[in-house]
Amino acid sequence: MSTEAEVLQRVRSVKDPEIGRSLGDLDMTRGVAIVGDTATVKIELPTPAYPRRERISDSIRSAIVSAHPDIKSVNVEFTAVVRGKMTGGAIGLRAKNVIAVGSGKGGVGKSTVAASLAFGLKSLGCQVGLMDADVYGPSIPHMIGSIDRPAAMKVTTAAGEEIERIQPVSIDGLKVISMGYFLKPDQAVIWRGPLLHRAITQFLKDTDWGDLDYLIIDLPPGTGDVSLTLSQLLGLAGAVVVCTPQQVALLDAVKAISMFNQVKIPLLGIVENMTGEIFGRGGAKAKAEELGLPFLGELPIDAGIRIRGDAGRIASLFSESNPSRDALIHICEQVAIEIAKQLLIAPKMPSLEIL
Ligand code: ADP
Repeated sequence: MSTEAEVLQRVRSVKDPEIGRSLGDLDMTRGVAIVGDTATVKIELPTPAYPRRERISDSIRSAIVSAHPDIKSVNVEFTAVVRGKMTGGAIGLRAKNVIAVGSGKGGVGKSTVAASLAFGLKSLGCQVGLMDADVYGPSIPHMIGSIDRPAAMKVTTAAGEEIERIQPVSIDGLKVISMGYFLKPDQAVIWRGPLLHRAITQFLKDTDWGDLDYLIIDLPPGTGDVSLTLSQLLGLAGAVVVCTPQQVALLDAVKAISMFNQVKIPLLGIVENMTGEIFGRGGAKAKAEELGLPFLGELPIDAGIRIRGDAGRIASLFSESNPSRDALIHICEQVAIEIAKQLLIAPKMPSLEIL
């Protein structure tokens, strides 16, 4: 008769189909129980946005059955706990993964993709914050249909000090803050470096984000000022670059990519937006391959996306009946798994050899 320890050993050797390392190495196994001829295996995924998890159950099932003929059936039970770097400690930000969404120029759908990542990851069960740092055109309040300025509350710290905290707007549990809430409509602001730096720092530090799995930051298009501030304040999980398929737009995307390289923010990959008859298709994927970057998916051009954005109903992109939903969920999954890959494949710290 096979023992639970033997079966667990077998499960630990199964390779994860996305990350390419063994479930044991990735610390994803959470126990095996055998009752009669049935084994129940518990697996903890590194994100609830793990794509097509049934591939893991299939591999586990065949690995067990081939090595343990006395086991006739295998149940695989999944849980998920988001893994992350949690690098905001110095500024008191408790977010496991901070994701910047950027683009080379405006109008390519950067904010739409940032908001979609936030609502999509939330719909998959994650704790998510969305910070609109697009100081030149903060469009998130309009897209989520919440333009009232959030409350600032005085709170007393454990040390007895009284400080101001900003309460983020909550949309079904998604926490949102935007530069737009603090600017008057039509107010043209010239942001100088130090002022911008202070505003971004304050947004990260003084907002009551709580514990987040993912904090999505919608960056201003093009320039690197906000990115530089972010990379000085915390270690980001990485940046997503949004672009449209035409060749001219791709040149701008390449500029954005080199900007992220300069400020040492790792790249998660490229999203192609507005794929379709008007702008074409596949340009971003080819560019990603050429640059050796992951391609994170495409979002077709669809009047429904613009209409929902204009009407403040961007959250409804994730309703079952929306035709763009699958494309959006795919992008969320690819972003989440790319973060997990970069985190978990990263070489372990070299161990000191003591002679
Ligand atoms: P950016 O943040 O890059 O300036 P936005 O996300 O504000 O771009 O999008 C610009 C406009 O394009 C908005 O009106 C938005 O609703 C629309 N839009 C974005 N993506 C799509 C899409 N896939 N199909 C149709 N309209 C889109």
